[in-house]
Amino acid sequence: MAQKPKRAALARERTRRSQKNTPPSRRGSGPGATTRRGAATTCGWCGGAVTVKATGRIPKWCSAACRQRAWEQSRAAASGRSAVEVVERVIEVPAAPDATPRREQWPSLLRELAAQLDTGRIYTRDLPELGTVLTAALDAFQRRSARRGRRR
Ligand SMILES: [Zn+2]
Repeated sequence: MAQKPKRAALARERTRRSQKNTPPSRRGSGPGATTRRGAATTCGWCGGAVTVKATGRIPKWCSAACRQRAWEQSRAAASGRSAVEVVERVIEVPAAPDATPRREQWPSLLRELAAQLDTGRIYTRDLPELGTVLTAALDAFQRRSARRGRRR
């Protein structure tokens, strides 16, 4: 929304300039001038249409933005580097979840694992590693259950 008054001011500035550039004698309307006026009508930066006024300089750019970009580019070329436009974007990233599942997460995690195994969402090449950790988990479960049983 802050752009609108700026654009309006720019338009006013352009109007003022064009009025200032219109001499009463209509200079530039010689024999060659009319053909040149019709020819140069594309922006040197974006290739867009350039509004050529009846009198005054033939603009090279369609807008102030294109003139600015072209200027930045030529300046960068002169320095041997390329012009880059730095655009900052705010990306919301959810806070990294704790890598260690909480106790109440295990049942659903293990059910999900079973479902993924059944539906083929886990690759065959991943089965050996899963087999190792599942066996280790089951061994631990049984050791724990046996201890509990002894305590009773
Ligand atoms: Zn342009």
